[in-house]
Amino acid sequence: MLRSLTLATLLALTVPLTATAQDAVKVTPLGGQEGEFCRLDRALIFEDPTGTRILYDAGRTVAGPEDPRLGEIDVILVSHVHGDHIGDRRAAAVNAGTCGQPDASVSMTPNSNTVEIAVAKGAAIVTGSEMPRFFAGKLKAAGGDPKKSVLARFGASQTIGGVKITTVPAVHSNGLAPDFIGGEMAEHMAEAGITAYVGPPTGYVLTFSNGLVVYLSGDTGITAEQDLVVRGHYAAKLVVMNIGDTFTTGPTEAAYVINELVKPASVIASHANEEATKDGQVIAGTRSEAFMKASGVPVHVPLSGRTMSFDADGLCVEGCS
Ligand SMILES: [Zn+2]
Repeated sequence: MLRSLTLATLLALTVPLTATAQDAVKVTPLGGQEGEFCRLDRALIFEDPTGTRILYDAGRTVAGPEDPRLGEIDVILVSHVHGDHIGDRRAAAVNAGTCGQPDASVSMTPNSNTVEIAVAKGAAIVTGSEMPRFFAGKLKAAGGDPKKSVLARFGASQTIGGVKITTVPAVHSNGLAPDFIGGEMAEHMAEAGITAYVGPPTGYVLTFSNGLVVYLSGDTGITAEQDLVVRGHYAAKLVVMNIGDTFTTGPTEAAYVINELVKPASVIASHANEEATKDGQVIAGTRSEAFMKASGVPVHVPLSGRTMSFDADGLCVEGCS
């Protein structure tokens, strides 16, 4: 807190920032290639005006706890425990591989990229459903504090720093792969082709200190709660929407969620599972392009390393493409 206030004071003295930019929530993608939106990209950092920093779905593109892009992390969110979100593998280094074939060569099982980062940063992991006990055990096994795994089940919330965090339903699956369990039981499970139960997957609703409400869809199909809860109760103004098809809503379904159900001011595309950009420009014929065309509100492309700033109304005030 003291650090961020001091920095804000210094900036106010040296840079003529508008009140809007100072109060904005900053969103920085940590993707597979600097300046691009790539196949495995999920991870985003949200920074509240008070300085609270949240890492959402670390996945495979964050190069472990030593990734210099992380900085201080107060909270980690995990929509569900599938490997591409919790991080069963990770990049050997920032920007390793290519946009279409990102490097994810470092195995992170049985602990996961998420847990290793949480321990190194002293961050809380806030999850819903039955996931907190699983993460508490993993934190302990990795030398961290199991009490740092915190529950925010549907309808309940946790406030950490300047941000209120709750979970909302996602229509997906949430089986824990045997690789995270180990031992003889894991062998039997792998042989039988089954996963372990850790409760349903989730999306999140975050309420920042400037009043901005953000919906993180997680991996999901179309849900009734996107209308009834996310718009009806929380009135989310910015949405991070998964558009990859096959595993989640595709561009058409995702645009329906935006246009008819949540009705935010703007949206950040996510989880496109494709090489979506070249030289920072969306490639013709991609799912990302189809989603941008179908969405009735501005779609911002999460170019890795490029910080976007959003005001309380969900409008981008700086850094958007
Ligand atoms: Zn996924």
